[in-house]
Amino acid sequence: MRDEGVGSWPRRRARKTPNRVAIVHDGRAMTYGELDERVSRLARALRGLGVGRGDRVAYLGENHPALLETLFAAGTLGAVFVPLNTRLSGAEIGYMLADSGSSVLVHGAGSQADPAEAAAALPLRTVDVHDGYEAMLARAVGGSAGEPVSLEDPLIMMYTSGTTGTPKGAVLTHGNITWNSVNVLVDVDLAADEVTLVMAPLFHTAALNMTCLPTLLKGGRVLIERGFETGRTFELVERHAVTMLFGVPAMFAALAAAPGWPDADLSSVRNLLCGGSPVPESLIRVYLARGLSFVQGYGMTEASPGALLLDREMSGPKAGSAGVPHFFTDVRVVRPDGTEVGQGERGEVVVRGPNVMSGYWRRPDDTEAALMGDGWFRSGDIAVVDPDGYVSIVDRAKDMIISGGENIYPAEVENVLYGHPDVAECAVIGVPHDRWGEVGKAIVVLRPGAVPDEAALLAFAAGLLGRYKVPKSAVFVTALPRNASGKIIKSRLRAHHGHPAQGGSQA
Ligand code: ATP
Repeated sequence: MRDEGVGSWPRRRARKTPNRVAIVHDGRAMTYGELDERVSRLARALRGLGVGRGDRVAYLGENHPALLETLFAAGTLGAVFVPLNTRLSGAEIGYMLADSGSSVLVHGAGSQADPAEAAAALPLRTVDVHDGYEAMLARAVGGSAGEPVSLEDPLIMMYTSGTTGTPKGAVLTHGNITWNSVNVLVDVDLAADEVTLVMAPLFHTAALNMTCLPTLLKGGRVLIERGFETGRTFELVERHAVTMLFGVPAMFAALAAAPGWPDADLSSVRNLLCGGSPVPESLIRVYLARGLSFVQGYGMTEASPGALLLDREMSGPKAGSAGVPHFFTDVRVVRPDGTEVGQGERGEVVVRGPNVMSGYWRRPDDTEAALMGDGWFRSGDIAVVDPDGYVSIVDRAKDMIISGGENIYPAEVENVLYGHPDVAECAVIGVPHDRWGEVGKAIVVLRPGAVPDEAALLAFAAGLLGRYKVPKSAVFVTALPRNASGKIIKSRLRAHHGHPAQGGSQA
């Protein structure tokens, strides 16, 4: 069988451009030749730890080249790479490690959860990127450990929570990831001399699949930063003549409001790619006014993630729209009965194409519901289509809050709050926030006799949830509004309690 897998990309690149720089991190450059060598060594080392076809290899850590090496090495072996969010609690990470049945956890620095603690009760081996990883690679000499992988084989499993509040692993195949990269190369015009700055977390689909992997496929250079900081962004763009920058709207808003903005030289930038949450038209105008091209993308983890793209030529004329479907992907906006909406009519966005996931890990019922039995993925987003076919996302049917680019599913937070002995009923809503776009607010009915204590309740939640999911405030009420079938009417709560929140911090 021919090896079609994403794990072969470093080898194929090294065949063409071994001396070109692939990755820059912490002031060190790694060529494609070196990346290929390190990936084969890591694959051998992982095989030595018992990893084989179909096994899961988890990764927990801030942005680091080891994350990409682990992805490619797992792909080489036909194993599945499971990137974990560093902003989750130990309990949440433990759940994902157990649910995925990962046999190895590679971990770096910068996670809220202690990797050793999260893995303690599980039958898995751990590898520390900063202690033992290099020595392990140095020892891993010998022949090729890889085996042929097909485009149908699973490559990445990314956890995404749902409206039920239970995180599910979206399984993305080598084909899904390849086709998404091809979509990006066709639609965003990436070039071989691309210099892509990656500041958003690589454990999320957008930074990894919309920017990093397509750049590496094309033979460009990725600058991998641990995190996002405005002054450093300007400095790196100038020093490395960055051509492509990805960020969520909160990052681009922060850049435009930073003290360095007026004097920063951004002339090298060809593509600013923004997505992950609604992109305010006013933000696009700020960048266009500076002569920069602004590309808005809309997608979701389950679509690897690109679904719609508003390319640079149209970013002015169609500002506010999320654009048209990616080249090899189809998007429809439908009524509840599945028929397409008329012009100006609202409907749900559904997505089909070679980049749409094969399903959720070991959850056939959820998979069936999400893919509607016919491969059209139901996004839970509400949109309208203009006469030219441009889609604007106008609302969300699913109960979800997006805070600084991180998705918060209220059901998950509510489940935790219900674990507090004083809580009789609760609902979490999103309220506007000047910095994070939205933050969570808890509306709580206490049990008889319990004393309202906002700080204690929020501290309780903070012990169990990733920091960004912890509501920034809580209010206590005597009853929650419910409809005839007993469902809490969140729209009414939003109308009463949804005034903007100020300040607040988010790790
Ligand atoms: P990442 O988590 O890497 O930022 P992502 O946001 O594309 O990637 P998910 O975390 O799965 O992927 O979130 C998908 C949801 O985010 C969509 O269903 C939609 O609600 C929202 N979203 C993403 N992009 C946009 C956009 N351009 N406009 C409005 N909503 C968006």
